[in-house]
Amino acid sequence: MKPTPNSYIEAMLAYTPGEQPQGEGWIKLNTNENPYPPSPAVAAAVMSALGADGAALRLYPSPDSRRFREAVSVLHGLPVDHVLAGNGSDDVLNLLIRAYAGPGRPVGMLNPSYSLYPVLAAAQNAPVVRVEIQADLTFSIHAVTDSGASIFFITNPNAPLGINYARKTIAQVAADFKGLLVVDEAYAAFAPEDCSELLRTHSNVVITRTLSKAHALAGMRVGYVLARPEVIGLLDRVRDSYNLDRLAQAAGVAALNDANWLQETVGKVKRSRERLTQSLLDIGWSVVPSATNFVLATPVRMGSPPGVSTSEHAFEFLRSKKILVRRFPAHPLTASALRITVGTDAEVDAFLHAAKEWTAGRG
Ligand SMILES: *Cc1c(COP(=O)(O)O)cnc(C)c1O
Repeated sequence: MKPTPNSYIEAMLAYTPGEQPQGEGWIKLNTNENPYPPSPAVAAAVMSALGADGAALRLYPSPDSRRFREAVSVLHGLPVDHVLAGNGSDDVLNLLIRAYAGPGRPVGMLNPSYSLYPVLAAAQNAPVVRVEIQADLTFSIHAVTDSGASIFFITNPNAPLGINYARKTIAQVAADFKGLLVVDEAYAAFAPEDCSELLRTHSNVVITRTLSKAHALAGMRVGYVLARPEVIGLLDRVRDSYNLDRLAQAAGVAALNDANWLQETVGKVKRSRERLTQSLLDIGWSVVPSATNFVLATPVRMGSPPGVSTSEHAFEFLRSKKILVRRFPAHPLTASALRITVGTDAEVDAFLHAAKEWTAGRG
């Protein structure tokens, strides 16, 4: 007899990560990684946590990532019982869905937004309800509050659109929504405001953060969630007992404690983002105003109006120049566009050079 897996697991599809090309010479503007290295304090802290002979690795790490959570607590001015650490923020998104969704208890999300949520929902056999973002890039607050979701994710700033919804809009949703409202703030460091203060005023609000983007630690897997202690207590029951390894905890503390590095590198990314945006507008592309470390831009040129095949053509042209960006063909708001991660000045220059060539009709 053949062992039978859960039918809903058999029926689901895995998340599709952005391409990580092998080989040299690629300009990677496809997965929103930071173009700058993490704070120099990170490598020093990892080295010191490892020790000369690696003997520290014999021992289990702090099960509750104590020092890292203390650093988060200081940063946000919240008691440490309001913080749970995750192996990347994807880990905490998964824990939230495990604790709050299931059969008959839907996961809600704005569409388009982060395509991992439906994958995590499928793994818990939970239905997904989607609230469509409109052509003017707003969404209906009522559609969210009437969605019937047990847990609703608002990616803010939105990915892949890049726009930021005002804190007062999120507060209106929180006030009328009966379920748990998760604000996924993966890109908050690049935005003009965030929603962490809503934790004090709205008991159903949860904030998730990652160190993968602004702190340049995608390869280390560090994230966290801020929530009321009742919520943290639930997540604590369902997480892996040692969900962050020793090196990740040390790296996370060092990264959070170097506020100057964060400010400088985020400042550089934001300046490059404005230059990239303006240069694309100058060649006639349309660009969504971005509060993140990427821009969503729609390529056009003589004879190629905005559309799926134009964006595909521009994508392939860039790829032939070893410049990787990302396409999101599944949604009408993104199907004609390219999502371009903000790189170093040299990477932005190389991208713009190729984009201008394509727009001028070569290739
Ligand atoms: C990158 C990203 C994350 C995941 O961050 P990790 O900490 O690397 O798991 C979560 N949400 C959104 C919207 C993201 O773009």
